Order: sequence, then structure tokens, then C-alpha cells
Amino acid sequence: MNNIDAMKAYYEAKAQGRIVPYFQPIVSVNDHQMLAAEVLCRIQLPEGGLITPDQFIPSLEETGEICDLDWYMAERACQMALSTDVECDQQIKFSVNMSRRHAYEWDAAEHLLAIADRYMVDPERIMVEITEGYSVEDYLLNNMMENLREAGFSVALDDFGEGYATLGSLKEASFDAIKIDRSMVGGDFTNDNSGAIIQSIVKLAKNLGVKAIGEGAETYEQLLFYIRCGCEYAQGNIYGKPFSEECFLQLLKEGKGDGEDDEVKIMVLRE
Ligand code: C2E
Ligand code: MG
Ligand code: MG
Repeated sequence: MNNIDAMKAYYEAKAQGRIVPYFQPIVSVNDHQMLAAEVLCRIQLPEGGLITPDQFIPSLEETGEICDLDWYMAERACQMALSTDVECDQQIKFSVNMSRRHAYEWDAAEHLLAIADRYMVDPERIMVEITEGYSVEDYLLNNMMENLREAGFSVALDDFGEGYATLGSLKEASFDAIKIDRSMVGGDFTNDNSGAIIQSIVKLAKNLGVKAIGEGAETYEQLLFYIRCGCEYAQGNIYGKPFSEECFLQLLKEGKGDGEDDEVKIMVLRE
């Protein structure tokens, strides 16, 4: 999709309320419990079907429209947090994606706090994933991450190993988790340097006192690889593809009150 088509599809969908959140579990590999659900946007097509973000997010990053989308998705995440409280009696955590572009807004943390307050959601239940699609100065980004953490949100570096977050940029950064980019378990990952790199990132995370989350665990082989590398959390299709709002609520309701064993079953049911 070219830039013009992407922006047209986005504006039309926005005007018609066809931008929707999908939810994908981030799971503790030791007990298969859900740590949080990542909120991923989709455009619903009037004729049925979905447009996935890789087709329109780069255009939104370029134009700056991404900030608007992020606030909207944060709002939908908080709305869902409230729904899961009321309908499922579960205090699920949600992980929202935020473009680095928000670092140019002086009040990004206050803005997110106002959204959470509106839905009576404790900031502790929201993680902010700093995405890698746009480059900003480290000091601005560090400032935003610090403000978000001070407001009570947790912060994750998304797609680590793939974009702008370098080792040097971590020196003064304040964050709670590193998400290891799924390209690390792509291609010929068992025969190349992936294992050594993942192990080093996991060790780095441990030394910094933050969580390491392996992305894109699609097969058992990829999940086991992350586990062997010492990664304690993983996300990927092996635990379930991103769920629509309705299916996600259903998933939570089915698991309600059934204890740990059932949660394993719920998660691995989606293999
Ligand atoms: P991300 O934040 O790294 O999200 C994970 C992506 O990996 C999602 O793609 C997810 O569907 C995909 N994925 C998860 N497990 C697997 C797997 O086992 N195999 C494979 N092949 N893929 C898997 P998705 O939903 O297409 O999103 C792509 C990217 O778009 C996201 O990557 C994120 O950077 C961006 N994005 C999505 N929603 C938002 C949003 O609301 N705001 C911003 N700023 N960016 C967003
Ligand atoms: Mg993400
Ligand atoms: Mg990612």
C-alpha cells in the first residue's frame, strides 16, 4: 500500500469507527500465565477482513498522525481494562504501543494518565512499548520514559535489536522491560548467532533488573529456543494470534477461576 492509499484508508476508517484493537497475550514461560496483553491496532474493512499495521503505520509515523492513533488505542486499552474488571473480575495488564514521536509532546505522561483516570485504571496496569519506527534524540525519549514511569506506568523497549535503541542509548534510559525482536528467531536461527545474541540480551536485562520478553514465538522450536536462552517471558502465535475484543473477553471468561492448570490449557489451546 503506498502512502496515499494508506492515509486514505486510515482517515476513512477513523471517520467510520473502523479502527479496532486486537489483543495478544505476553506469557510467563514457566507457568504459562499471562503477564499482560499487547494492544495491536487493525483497520476493519467494510467488506470484511482486516488491514494490519505494517501496511499503514509507516505512513502514520511519517506524517505524525501516529500520535493520534496511539492515544486512541490507549483509550481502547483502558476501556478494555475496565471491561475485564467488570465482566471477568480479572485485573489484566495491557501493553500499548507508543511511537517515539510522543517524545516531542511535553505532556505525554500526563495525557496517558488522564486517559487511565477516565476509565479508573491504575497506571500499574499499563505498560508502554516504545516502538522503533521513528528516530528522536535520546534525551527527549529518556525524559518521556522517566515521566511515564514516575506517573506509575511501566515502559518496555520494543523490537530490541532491530531499530534505534542502541547499547549506548540505554546508558541513561529508564525502563522496565526489553522486548527481543522477532527477527532473532527468524530464518536459520538455530545455526546462526541468534542464540548468543538472545542470551546476551537476557543477561543484559537481568543485570539491569528488567524483564526480557521474546517476541514472535510462533513454533515450539522458537519458544524452546527462547527458554533455553534464559528468556522468562514470550509472546507469539504459539500462545495465540492477536484476539479480537470479543474473543479476548471470551478467553478470559473461559479461564476465570479455573486456576493455573486451566490457564496453561487456555494458552496452549491456541497452538
Ligand atoms: P510489535 O509491537 O512488535 O507487535 C508484535 C507484532 O508481531 C504484531 O504484528 C503481532 O501480530 C506479530 N506477531 C506476534 N506473534 C507472532 C508470531 O508468532 N509470528 C509472527 N510472524 N508474527 C507475530 P502487527 O499486529 O502486525 O503489528 C506490527 C507492528 O505495528 C507492531 O509491532 C507495532 O510496532 C506496530 N503497531 C501495532 N499497533 C500499534 C499502535 O497502536 N501504535 C503504534 N505506534 N504502533 C503499533
Ligand atoms: Mg509492541
Ligand atoms: Mg515488537
